[in-house]
Amino acid sequence: MSQQTRDDCLFCRIVAGDIPSERVAESERSIAFRDINPAAPIHVLVVPRRHEPTVGALAHASADDLTDVFRLAQQVAEQEGVGDAHRLIVNTGSDAGQTIFHAHVHVLAGVRFTEGRMV
Ligand code: AMP
Ligand code: ZN
Repeated sequence: MSQQTRDDCLFCRIVAGDIPSERVAESERSIAFRDINPAAPIHVLVVPRRHEPTVGALAHASADDLTDVFRLAQQVAEQEGVGDAHRLIVNTGSDAGQTIFHAHVHVLAGVRFTEGRMV
């Protein structure tokens, strides 16, 4: 899979700053910004700067990038005051609800989670 920034990828364009986002944190390898259509009071997306279509592909391509995404997700949760009360969600494939094919992790919090689908 391509490692390069893609002009036709929304999240690559957000990473590049070509499309605005409400950025809440960043690292050398990843960025975090608020979801435009939040499914919970706190809903942040953590995205590797590297383009890979899924988290599984990212895991194969770069363990460092994969680790960094989860580190930044924890940092965001702590910043938002929910370091010990949040849910991470990864959708893989359109049948599972993935709509943007650039790997990302959802950080959700601010509701009492029950079983079932959140995003
Ligand atoms: P997924 O369904 O797992 O692929 O998640 C994609 C997420 O990206 C959805 O929750 C969308 O609301 C969110 N999203 C789409 N466009 C934007 C955008 N321009 N800025 C922030 N979040 C977005
Ligand atoms: Zn991309």
